Amino acid sequence: MDDTRLVFGIDLGTTYSCVAQVDQFDQAVVLKNFEGKNTTPSVVYFGEDDTVVVGEEAKEASKMEPERTVAFVKRSISTDDAYNKPTKFPQGLDPTEISSYILKKIVKDANDAGQSDTEVKKVVITCPAYFGSKERERTKQAGLMAGLEVMAVLNEPTAAAIAYGMKVSDKKNIIVYDLGGGTFDVTIIRVNNGAITVIATGGDHHLGGVDWDTELAKYMLNQFNKEHGTNHDMDKDPVLRNQLMILAEDKKKSLSVPTRESVKAIVTYEGNSTQMEITRAIFDQLTEFRLDETIEKTKEVIEIAKAKGTTTIDEVLLVGGSSRMRQIKQRVDAELNCDAALTDPDECVAKGAAIFALNESYNKAMEEYSEGVRDEPPAKMIRGTGGATGRINVINVTSKTYGMGCLDANTGADIVENLIFANSPLNGNCKAKSTFYTVQDNQSGVQLPVFESDVTDEVNEHTIPQSAAVAMEEGEPSVLKLTKKWPKDTPVNVIFEIDTDGILHVHAEVGQDSIDFEMKIKGVKDEKELEAATAKMSRAKIQ
Ligand code: AMP
Repeated sequence: MDDTRLVFGIDLGTTYSCVAQVDQFDQAVVLKNFEGKNTTPSVVYFGEDDTVVVGEEAKEASKMEPERTVAFVKRSISTDDAYNKPTKFPQGLDPTEISSYILKKIVKDANDAGQSDTEVKKVVITCPAYFGSKERERTKQAGLMAGLEVMAVLNEPTAAAIAYGMKVSDKKNIIVYDLGGGTFDVTIIRVNNGAITVIATGGDHHLGGVDWDTELAKYMLNQFNKEHGTNHDMDKDPVLRNQLMILAEDKKKSLSVPTRESVKAIVTYEGNSTQMEITRAIFDQLTEFRLDETIEKTKEVIEIAKAKGTTTIDEVLLVGGSSRMRQIKQRVDAELNCDAALTDPDECVAKGAAIFALNESYNKAMEEYSEGVRDEPPAKMIRGTGGATGRINVINVTSKTYGMGCLDANTGADIVENLIFANSPLNGNCKAKSTFYTVQDNQSGVQLPVFESDVTDEVNEHTIPQSAAVAMEEGEPSVLKLTKKWPKDTPVNVIFEIDTDGILHVHAEVGQDSIDFEMKIKGVKDEKELEAATAKMSRAKIQ
């Protein structure tokens, strides 16, 4: 196989993860895991010694040994949580490191099964569109620690749109409604002659299938408590909680079968058991408020797109495993007056990432060929088969607003001057500059407090109070070290730049000097930390 094709797409999901590749027939295909399944539960189990089990077995173990398992780690990717499990090794892992074990496992399975011509090494990993700089960096670092070469971090809805086979000649505005296991993402995308441009994006990283499971689990426990006069509380009992959640997920999935109007469930705990019938009507009623939240978010994003001149929607795609719930399509169709497409919701993100990876790889190889670095041109892609081929050009938007902390010249209040707003196109030139001045003679450094927020109104929210934003660094902001001592009132041009992966870089220009600014974002590792973590993690045996 041509080496340009040895690239892969990975959907690192909250509940399930998946690896895909474009095969020699230009079809995006999923690489199966050890159990022969297309997706692997993103659950990690820590054995007593140094074994780390990922996937179905770990999920099963979470019922009896919740203290040894970690699930939904993607929801915590921006946090400083440290997971201390009763294991000899490894200890005190952060969410990036846990995610890295998930990646290691799915890559290992794909390699062991020998489904592809080579090792899974060069990958595109997906993340929710609303992930900010820190979460994206961490996603990338999870890949690096798993020994992967991360070509790009791609937004999940963009990947889904690519996989849905948007024909290169299509000219359409599409809503991607992505309801996964733990996250909800809604994105409006314009497809035009191979260019895929994200117009607007929004979402909630704490809204997903697991919230539907929680409502159903609570309901089942209520029925059980009523019958037995007990007072069990799943928030105080992790074993009970995990059992109920797994049962709830199973029942929820059964209710997605088109002909199924009700399911039976049996809750057994401490020698008692209760049998109950769960109808679709009960399930829908219990969880309606969650569905309302997704519709509200969707409408918000439609408004943002409208404000940017995109007033028509031609298609709605339903993505993410939770979109299989029947009430989702019904409600979305009714609210948006459409016939939303639901195809391949569990795998389309990984497949889209694989197609994107191939495009990137092909483009790079063509460039190298034209520069004479490469002897042969890459093997041609056949246009238009299954959406896998045909050159695509993705332009994303930033999901967050970024600004500099400063003092309001009039009031002296702590404010943020926003430089780059959410939904700005990431076209390789997403930059903004602001000028600050040194305040004293012989100044050799300037503190640069960088803030991130969700504000979107460029006119009225050009400056906002610091309390309305989140500092990128914890504690005192890092100091930009100037290369020499400057007199008072020397202009310091601070330049914010967001790369095509959606990651913020800051540099400054003072006189003729151009200086890179290294922020120390808690949880984002520097090179040394990354090396140390990679070495530490490789000591565990992954199963
Ligand atoms: P994803 O993050 O896209 O892999 O979605 C995983 C979520 O989809 C989990 O919450 C699953 O319980 C849910 N899911 C998967 N299959 C179904 C189904 N048939 N019906 C309802 N929810 C499902």
